[in-house]
Amino acid sequence: MPTWLVTGGAGFIGGNFVLDAVRRGIKVVNLDALTYAGNLDTLQPLQGDANHVFVKGDIGDAALVETLLREHRPDAVINFAAESHVDRSIDGPAAFVHTNVVGTLNLLERTRDYWKSLDAAGREAFRFLHVSTDEVYGTLGETGKFTEQTPYAPNSPYSASKAASDHLVRAFHHTYGFPVLTTNCSNNYGPYQFPEKLIPLIIAKALAGESLPVYGDGRNVRDWLYVGDHCAAIRRVLEAGRVGETYNVGGDAERENIVVVRTICRLLDERRPLADGRARESLITFVADRPGHDRRYAIDASKLQSELGWSPSLTFEEGIAQTIDWYLANQPWVQRVLDGSYRLERIGQAA
Ligand code: NAD
Repeated sequence: MPTWLVTGGAGFIGGNFVLDAVRRGIKVVNLDALTYAGNLDTLQPLQGDANHVFVKGDIGDAALVETLLREHRPDAVINFAAESHVDRSIDGPAAFVHTNVVGTLNLLERTRDYWKSLDAAGREAFRFLHVSTDEVYGTLGETGKFTEQTPYAPNSPYSASKAASDHLVRAFHHTYGFPVLTTNCSNNYGPYQFPEKLIPLIIAKALAGESLPVYGDGRNVRDWLYVGDHCAAIRRVLEAGRVGETYNVGGDAERENIVVVRTICRLLDERRPLADGRARESLITFVADRPGHDRRYAIDASKLQSELGWSPSLTFEEGIAQTIDWYLANQPWVQRVLDGSYRLERIGQAA
């Protein structure tokens, strides 16, 4: 069974990925700095499992990364670690450059040194998979989809930092022949997502009967993918992706934000009606838009589908219902991750 070094594996997508990988018998060394977004609670089911080694630390720490690679000799590195919230990048871009750009560069440099030390068969089999976003492509009008050929045009400090890291990953392949893969995925949702992002935020506020903030006119469109389907895509690319290639990952599920919010309201009304009988849709409040808010993202994932045979297993309607049921069943997790400084307040409005 292989050993993988996974970074950011206490976060939302990384946590789902690690839980699944260890269940499949893979040994995972999980390097995570445990920022506000990292939660060991998510990894609770793996406690005592010898196939999960958790290490608290920064991907930018050269000595630590070098030691982990030397001691555990992974067959692959999968890089999820990042500052990931656009609103936070508006308030403080520096942390995004620190982790997403400088940290990723350190991870690339240390991993390339380790890769060079492997024998020919080890070098041939090794992979560095970088997890990225469709936001690097900028924004779309009413029609069209992002393909792997779409030029990068990042609009937020978050997407600019992810674009920079993608370029470094690409350059390490082109310059040094380092065996990289990059995935650019659309918006994820599902279990263990920190409640600052749209779907878990709306679920939390709607459950509490609080007003539901929707940015601008609510007509911004995102393509939504269930996190488990994203993890399956990453495993498939790791297994069979062509070295040096990038793969778009998407759910073929474009929805306006307001439609997402109304769907959550309806499903929660069915499952947990408000005590006063009000429909939760009446709680929707349109608030000032996010500065520089991209209008529409849509992903063409046909390369991944035709080359590697991946497709999403859940529709948006199935995935969102499962997600709501998970949050209803896991309220203690939500309460515990909110024990830090974030309290569902609005951030990222710029000066
Ligand atoms: P997240 O914010 O939930 O988790 C990020 C994790 O990285 C946290 O556990 C945090 O503690 C850790 N981390 C942050 N800085 C670190 C550092 N310097 N060293 C080590 N660990 C550090 O993010 P997420 O939503 O799970 O996203 C994971 C990756 O997937 C990111 O690279 C993101 O850009 C990408 N992505 C996310 C989405 C999405 O919809 N959430 C979509 C496409 C791509």
